[in-house]
Amino acid sequence: MANPLADSPSRAFPLFLDLARPNPTTRDVATAVRHGGAAALSEAERRADDARYQEVACRSALNPVQGMPFKWTLNAYRGCTHGCHYCFARRYHAQFELNSDDEFASVILVKRNIAEMLRKELDRPAWKRELVAVGTATDPYQPIEGRYQLTRRCLEAMVAGRTPISLVTKGPMVVRDRDLLLDVARASGATVCMSVPTVDEETWRILEPGTASPVQRLRAVRTLVDAGVDAGVLMAPIVPGFSTSRAKLERTVKAIADHGARFVGCNVMYLQDGTRAHFMKFLDQEFPSMRPRYDRLYRNKYPPDAYREEVRGMVRMLQQRYGLEPRRKANEADPNKAEANNNPGTGSLEEGHPSKPQDSGDPEQVGFAW
Ligand code: SF4
Repeated sequence: MANPLADSPSRAFPLFLDLARPNPTTRDVATAVRHGGAAALSEAERRADDARYQEVACRSALNPVQGMPFKWTLNAYRGCTHGCHYCFARRYHAQFELNSDDEFASVILVKRNIAEMLRKELDRPAWKRELVAVGTATDPYQPIEGRYQLTRRCLEAMVAGRTPISLVTKGPMVVRDRDLLLDVARASGATVCMSVPTVDEETWRILEPGTASPVQRLRAVRTLVDAGVDAGVLMAPIVPGFSTSRAKLERTVKAIADHGARFVGCNVMYLQDGTRAHFMKFLDQEFPSMRPRYDRLYRNKYPPDAYREEVRGMVRMLQQRYGLEPRRKANEADPNKAEANNNPGTGSLEEGHPSKPQDSGDPEQVGFAW
């Protein structure tokens, strides 16, 4: 059967122009994969990390979202070689007919033209310079960013377009762009949220196989803060039974404080659709004895409110003990005028996870067993 990728309308070029063929759209990719699986992406480049990178042309850079404290998100890549087992974005790979297991971490779509599209969108008179959440469905500083520099070029566009951002990452490569992050902060506001769910090395190796070590990430926070960037840490997600012990939480909060983070926030893991299927399969393979407890705890997308509040209460108590600021809510002013928004979530098909406000409670009333 013919490859639909080669036959798609956007690929229809005379042979003599073949070398300059445009990248396929994400729709072309989905059509090709539907007919021939990931193997149909014959132009995807396999690199030393064993992942395959398919360049695509996006039709828009900014994604509108609803029901979140921000209205726009930006993701230069889809899929993520960091491959965290709990990643809420796994399920979105299904939009491209790719699976939320191995293919989420090994078939990466690269939006080659995203910076150009972004500049056009930010130049429109109708653009209101609202906060853009960067990295809600992928990591903007996963290793391939070193080659394409799409996130960097998007930051340049944000400076020119005087548009505030809140960026979430697990990639220490973010320090490369501290100059631009400062430029965005001066022009309109910028906050960086480094995701460090735990500093426990064993938990890190189990749950986040492709990421830099937690200590490397915290050093990156230190570098950003020293440079003047408004940077803090999200302990998100905290994963029941893996990173919820008081000892692990305390070591993590202390390490975050020791590295000068300007704020800390936390969230307990939630499981939805494809992410749920992947995580339960991972448990069955690696930690089968934990499965019954997970079945009880995750009858719904979220664990029960009481459980989540216990975890949050513990983190709040530790945060006070170590003198850390809570993460700021969207649109709350900070000393750099950044419009902080540290929630990587969204309400759209394209993006990440909804998160409830972090309300207060008695921090001493904790004692969860798991
Ligand atoms: S780094 Fe973020 S986007 Fe990448 S797999 Fe981990 S949680 Fe998902």
